[in-house]
Amino acid sequence: MLSLLLRDNIRNITPYSTARDDCKAKMDIYLDANENPYPNGVNRYPSPHQPKLKEMLSVLKHVPAENIFIGNGSDEPIDLIFRLFCPPGESSMVQIVPTYGMYSVAAAINDVRVIDAPLDGNFALDAAAVLSKVEKDTKAIFLCSPNNPSGNLLDRGQILRILDNFDGIVVVDEAYIDFADGESFITQLGKYPRLVVLQTMSKAWGMAGLRIGLAIADKFIVDVMSRIKYPYNVSVLNQSKAEELLSDPLAAADKVAEIKSERNRLATALSDMEPVVRVYPSDANFLLVRFRDKSEVFARLLQAGIIVRDRSSAYGCDGCLRITVGTPEENDRVISVISGKPVGKGQIPADGNPDKEKDPDGGGKPDRRASCFRKTGETAVSVRVDLDNFHKPVIATGLGFFNHMLEQIGYHGGIGLDIICFGDLSTDDHHSVEDVAIALGDCLKEALGDKSGIGRYGFCLPMDEAEAMVLLDLGGRTDFLWDVTLHEPKVGDVSSQMFRHFFKSLSEHLNCNLHIKATGENDHHIVEGIFKAFARALKSAVKQEQQGGVIPSSKGWL
Ligand SMILES: *Cc1c(COP(=O)(O)O)cnc(C)c1O
Repeated sequence: MLSLLLRDNIRNITPYSTARDDCKAKMDIYLDANENPYPNGVNRYPSPHQPKLKEMLSVLKHVPAENIFIGNGSDEPIDLIFRLFCPPGESSMVQIVPTYGMYSVAAAINDVRVIDAPLDGNFALDAAAVLSKVEKDTKAIFLCSPNNPSGNLLDRGQILRILDNFDGIVVVDEAYIDFADGESFITQLGKYPRLVVLQTMSKAWGMAGLRIGLAIADKFIVDVMSRIKYPYNVSVLNQSKAEELLSDPLAAADKVAEIKSERNRLATALSDMEPVVRVYPSDANFLLVRFRDKSEVFARLLQAGIIVRDRSSAYGCDGCLRITVGTPEENDRVISVISGKPVGKGQIPADGNPDKEKDPDGGGKPDRRASCFRKTGETAVSVRVDLDNFHKPVIATGLGFFNHMLEQIGYHGGIGLDIICFGDLSTDDHHSVEDVAIALGDCLKEALGDKSGIGRYGFCLPMDEAEAMVLLDLGGRTDFLWDVTLHEPKVGDVSSQMFRHFFKSLSEHLNCNLHIKATGENDHHIVEGIFKAFARALKSAVKQEQQGGVIPSSKGWL
């Protein structure tokens, strides 16, 4: 029972309520909050529950909006965890050390005793060591993964052991999770209602100035946090700017990829340098580096106008500076100052390997890549396609089953495919599915360019779960045939009738002949069979059939 974990006064509190909370309908005239009636962009109070921002985050994080709390930076949920669960003067929390300084500051402000549980010499987490520090009055354990300042992701199994063996609140701060290859603990919320995952818009999303921090947790905890917080904790300007920046999430993903590659380059470069003792492995956007003489290096960097963080007083960090990964030019300056040698721009390639060419498929072959952004009154869709380079698909539409089907196109098509759709799902799934199909069709068509040398035809008849047959011809004519019977009104969270609609819209925008037949008992298997068969047909149709390095002209082939 989560409510038993709450402080008594918190359990019984009546929140401040606003007239607009009590009345959900849209009104014409607002005379309830003593606002100035003359518009200037900020004359109205902000929404206290940030529904639009939560909807967008819900799509991106694959978690229901009701599990998301939005705070004024992560500082707010950190403070709220103490205010909710830790009676002042008579409770304690356990934190790993070294770690983020804000947990112990917020604990001290709330008169909560801090117990340190040291990580080992490589900053690895030992669940038993943490659990051994728990006392009778311990209400919460704070973990940070990837950890600040050490930079490493904590071992998943050890965190699960703590969740299994401690009956208070377990906080996993994932401020840097987008820079790591590991999976978020958000997926464990259903199993562990006492888990609170912290994330932030400040780092990977580039919005430190907006002060937006997230707690992702059981609905009960989110509801109590929302009752206790200051009612208007995220300003009108901060909400609208965050919505604007979130609407182009693939741009943020590109920056994160660049920062990760720069991190690896910087780590490789630093590890060979004379003043450096050790560069700790990092899953974040910074490096913890031990120097022979950190004060000398710090002073030299400062002299050159570069400020880094001296973490040498933190547990296990003697001689260490923490260096945030900057732009390639900034990192070159850091490399040059620490090594004492000038580094020319581009001298060290992005992956730290000087022998490798920057352009992997040089040779003048045109890129078959495209990005499309499509915004209507109901949806905003971003699609990115790379026909020649597969990567793990990034798919977020707010519809779990649809996400899973779109992933099949990436995996079984062997193409790079990213799709983000913010849609009016509270109405229904129609616009989201249709607009994804349109944007995907347009984007595939753009990536195909003049179609020179492609296979053009794709035919697939996979024999796995269901019998699905897909015939695809990219010749430029549009003929659509759908011979599929689905038995139930919905498959997963998607209306069954939308699948025909999806492929029809796709064929119209990709300009292809598309014939689909499928039979089977189970709707889920039928639809999955169709998406896989489509993906494989697409794979052979878009493949460039080069002969002796000559790309046949489009006339010769089509
Ligand atoms: C930077 C950071 C945060 C983010 O703080 P905000 O208040 O959201 O900007 C949270 N946790 C850790 C460990 C951090 O390093």
